[in-house]
Amino acid sequence: MNDKLTLQALVALANSPFTHKQCDGCVGLICDGWESIPATFDRKQLELIGSMRSDDAMDNWRESHPLGTNSWSVNAPIAFGYHPYNKCDIYQCISCARKYLRYTEYGGYYLDERIRFLNPALITNSFS
Ligand SMILES: [Zn+2]
Repeated sequence: MNDKLTLQALVALANSPFTHKQCDGCVGLICDGWESIPATFDRKQLELIGSMRSDDAMDNWRESHPLGTNSWSVNAPIAFGYHPYNKCDIYQCISCARKYLRYTEYGGYYLDERIRFLNPALITNSFS
């Protein structure tokens, strides 16, 4: 399943219930801002549930930080339609159903798989 989510569907997913107790499956991932996925992490713990990718993702590198955040800020908006969210897929932990954003940053000589907890309070609509 790799359905492209609407903003409404993304918000609904982010607000869907998960187990709030500490989860052995993804405790190493729980991060408010973007972090690299640890090399030791078992990726089978995450299942793909949707995508935020937009058709212009590879041409659109604009970021949205109206409140002065930067891309690493723990309170940076999850800005639908902006980089890097226009390159993200949504995954959930198979144990606790926490939702995560994932995308791959392509550097000159490296790939960096990044992950961020999908916090519903931070989702913003770039089109409003
Ligand atoms: Zn979990």
